[in-house]
Amino acid sequence: MARQKTHKIKMMEEQLAKKLNRQVVGSLVGCVHCGMCDESCHYVLAFPDDHKMTPSYKADQLRKLFKANHDWTGKTFPWWVGADKVPLTDDDLETLKDIAFGTCTNCRRCTLSCPMGVDTATLNRIMRGLLAHVGVMPEGVRVVSKDQWELGNQMGVLKEDYLDTLEWMSEELEEDLGHDEATIPVEKKGANVMYCINPREVKYDPRTIKEAALIFWAAGEDWTMPEEGWDNTNFGLFSGDDQLGGACAKREYEKARELGVDKIVISECGHGFRSTRFEGVNWAAETEPVPMETSVQTMLDYIKEGKIKVDPTKNPERMTFHDSCNNARSGGFFEEPRELLKLVSMDFQEMYPNRAENYCCTGGGGAMSMSEYTPRRLESAKIKADQIRATGAKVVVTSCHNCVDGLNDLIKHYKLDCEVKQLVNLVANALIIEEPEKIPDELKPGDLEVKKVAEKEPLAGRKILVVDDEEDVRAFLTMVFEDAGAEVETATDGDEALAKAREYQPDLISLDLSMPGKDGVEAFVELRSDPATEEIPVCVVTGHPEFRQVIYDRPVPPPEGYLGKPVDEDKLVAYAHHIVEHRKEKAN
Ligand code: SF4
Ligand code: SF4
Repeated sequence: MARQKTHKIKMMEEQLAKKLNRQVVGSLVGCVHCGMCDESCHYVLAFPDDHKMTPSYKADQLRKLFKANHDWTGKTFPWWVGADKVPLTDDDLETLKDIAFGTCTNCRRCTLSCPMGVDTATLNRIMRGLLAHVGVMPEGVRVVSKDQWELGNQMGVLKEDYLDTLEWMSEELEEDLGHDEATIPVEKKGANVMYCINPREVKYDPRTIKEAALIFWAAGEDWTMPEEGWDNTNFGLFSGDDQLGGACAKREYEKARELGVDKIVISECGHGFRSTRFEGVNWAAETEPVPMETSVQTMLDYIKEGKIKVDPTKNPERMTFHDSCNNARSGGFFEEPRELLKLVSMDFQEMYPNRAENYCCTGGGGAMSMSEYTPRRLESAKIKADQIRATGAKVVVTSCHNCVDGLNDLIKHYKLDCEVKQLVNLVANALIIEEPEKIPDELKPGDLEVKKVAEKEPLAGRKILVVDDEEDVRAFLTMVFEDAGAEVETATDGDEALAKAREYQPDLISLDLSMPGKDGVEAFVELRSDPATEEIPVCVVTGHPEFRQVIYDRPVPPPEGYLGKPVDEDKLVAYAHHIVEHRKEKAN
């Protein structure tokens, strides 16, 4: 007796018709079953005799449905293209569930090997979406998707627990640093950065939130965390449900617009980065997306711009780097994490293959939520374990919370002698903590933004004394101040600075600290102690920010400004302008 199609199969066929576009059809019709992609898949490597593990077999399950319904070959020669073997019963759907969710992490590695450009992971995601559409999915996927729909995050974290965790981390940070401005701002409007995280951080690893807060504080960042719309992760990417994907991404985008922030910074989460930065924009049909970046880029920029300083000797162990499939293969994010890792650690050893060719940690594609497939997943992780072991690394660094869990599992299973860390852990550990730049009275945080002062010549009519022993620095500072309208005198050491300050009576002294002869610290104390110069404002411009405490500890009023070299031109003019204007107001 011929088997009848169930209602669910008909629903899946209808749903498939909505998913077809040029890219998808290209992958559906393009496979010539050459087998070139087989060995790129970690499941094939683990089960070489099982043809059901090959990428083409997995994608063929969707191909059959497509050919039977949309392709002339399937209608004319169904027996030739497998269109006569489409799933029909609920038992068939259980088999499909096992293939789509249990034998592919959607890592996209096989796509690199395909001469026809077939994207098997995209096809597998569509199959997952069809199954989810008719309610056929692993229990873990069902629970996580429900939590993300109903509670706004995939781990079922309640709002009060999230806010309690932020408060707890904020208090700890304040206590650690003894600084009442070192806190975690929540729901602050108009900040530069809205920082969004993975709920795993709230539930299992809140120290990463504190570490990120420490880095933001040290960089003097104007940042906030939102009360809602804080979850970067997006189970729509894993379950194939574009509607869920769009809803999750939209929550974050709308919150960013409501708070009026300049950009969203996404904590280290591979699929969170991919789904928020790229896929979510399409799912949510965003026409003007909010600027977004990963926190890896943010931390790297802070170091390069001199906003934070790091000591790599704090992380001396041998480290290797695991590329998250979503960050690297799907996001093109290869070099930045390596650059950052090399800046904050001493002994980096690349694993092979790496970057786009790296093997999945086997925790991708939502695999960590599907415990029924754990034994198979760990078996397929052998290649990853071998890669790590060959590096001799004591620390595997990765920029993805899913990978942290996947790697921890395989390290335990294969008894590797190493641990997993993220870049935020390493940057926070390497951070050289300095007091933030002292904000002179009445200079509000908003005033510290590096922006051009509105006036064309904001220092017109002002006299500035530039003190620095390096000729090119004197020339640069002179040019910046003169361009801003000031009249500039220069001095090359402390003695000359004192003589010129008395004679010239400048409106501001730009003072270097490290100079031969009388250095800047001594000169500063003498300037402050001499009635002829004590009122002249001083802005320290130094290549040795570590001298800050030395100068602030002197028994004289502190300098009006303190900037580290290399100094930003706009920031320098903004500071100088504020200082001289503030002095004028005081005098009036
Ligand atoms: S996407 Fe990854 S896990 Fe899936 S078939 Fe391709 S290589 Fe294998
Ligand atoms: S390499 Fe491409 S064409 Fe060949 S079997 Fe794999 S998916 Fe099909």
